[in-house]
Amino acid sequence: MFYDQAKIYVKGGDGGAGAVAFRREKYVPEGGPAGGDGGRGGNVIFVADEGLRTLADFRYKRHYKADRGEHGQGKNMHGKGAEDLVVRIPAGTLIKDQDTGEVLADLTEHGQTVVVAKGGRGGRGNARFMSNTNKAPTLAENGEPGQERYLTLELKLLADVGLVGFPNVGKSTLISRVSAAKPKIADYHFTTLVPNLGVVELEDGNSFVMADIPGLIEGAHSGAGLGHEYLRHTERTRLILHVLDIAGSEERDPLEDFQIIQEELRQYSPELAERPMFVVANKMDIPGAEENLKRLRDELGSETEIFPVSAATGEGLKPLVYRIAQVLPEIPAPEIFIRRDEQHKVTHVEPVERFAISKEDGVFVVSGKEIEKHVKMTLFESDEGVYRFQAILKTMGVDDALRAEGIKEGDKVKIAEMEFEWEN
Ligand code: GDP
Ligand code: MG
Repeated sequence: MFYDQAKIYVKGGDGGAGAVAFRREKYVPEGGPAGGDGGRGGNVIFVADEGLRTLADFRYKRHYKADRGEHGQGKNMHGKGAEDLVVRIPAGTLIKDQDTGEVLADLTEHGQTVVVAKGGRGGRGNARFMSNTNKAPTLAENGEPGQERYLTLELKLLADVGLVGFPNVGKSTLISRVSAAKPKIADYHFTTLVPNLGVVELEDGNSFVMADIPGLIEGAHSGAGLGHEYLRHTERTRLILHVLDIAGSEERDPLEDFQIIQEELRQYSPELAERPMFVVANKMDIPGAEENLKRLRDELGSETEIFPVSAATGEGLKPLVYRIAQVLPEIPAPEIFIRRDEQHKVTHVEPVERFAISKEDGVFVVSGKEIEKHVKMTLFESDEGVYRFQAILKTMGVDDALRAEGIKEGDKVKIAEMEFEWEN
């Protein structure tokens, strides 16, 4: 129903290139090949974190690239592999491939991980290509390119903080205030569409979700069809904000209102009524508020935290949201475990890449990730590299496929950025 969504780009690090080198030692006239392999590129790994509540971070930073592996060197020195790039995402985030729509992972539990972009393997150095027939190969490989893709992240928003209070005490005003501009809160396009729910983002990177529970109660009671989805929001609620019109601006007594709402809450959900609660004394800008605030303090005593605010002027809201962000992690998650509607199967299988042949202006174009990868990994300056590439075309069946398409001597073939003439 309410989704937080972000679109990002991830790329695994490229593998380092293999080296072409030969041993050069005193007293050894013809040293053998000694080019080391390149190191592998880093993976991009997502790890689920229960402490994160929104995808806010992913709207500011959209590109996640792991480092490349180091190149191989002479004296059989292998390049160092790059470290993985580990990115924390909120638990409950669904990760989809933007192009294929495939669900890559549904990380529901704290600590679950998924590799979203694999680093490329390092290219082999020439030392690896020595054989009985070739004692001095000049062949090496470039590193394999890191996997790259565009991802859509989706998170079902569940409220951390639930607002209760009589109509017109200022709940909607409060939500729109703190999830709009004041203590540096990002402008969420969807919050304006869904006034009962707001994402609060603080300057220190913390964020949480606030929802209007009376809306939920009314919705659930009147059977407005909101019930189920909304109840899920309350299940996650760790902290209740009880909002009062402390000025009694509608000729009501805020202290009486407080008791009535507490009783209603208990009836609605005893479990919910047990959760930690702050009292928000709203409308402090109206005359008469001070006296009622004093009465409220006397009545509730010091164990209830009371925040005098004005949702209208914004006064007092900053201390309130910072205090909320401070206590939320200390409050244990409610017992009720939220099940996601759709349990998505995590598909993790690399598709077997075939290639495709098309003809553009008489040129045979071969496309496909696997074959294009081989083009990138081949050193075409080396004859041996070229031979090896030809062998790959053969084993992958590209040769046969081109012949089946009717290729003739002298026709042009294009694979990725490489073009050559066909020889039988
Ligand atoms: P809700 O029914 O609890 O969601 O209350 P609303 O947010 O709709 O507010 C009800 C009325 O109170 C609106 O006219 C608001 O403009 C007004 N209001 C809300 N907060 C304040 C405040 O801090 N001071 C004053 N003076 N008016 C407020
Ligand atoms: Mg309202």
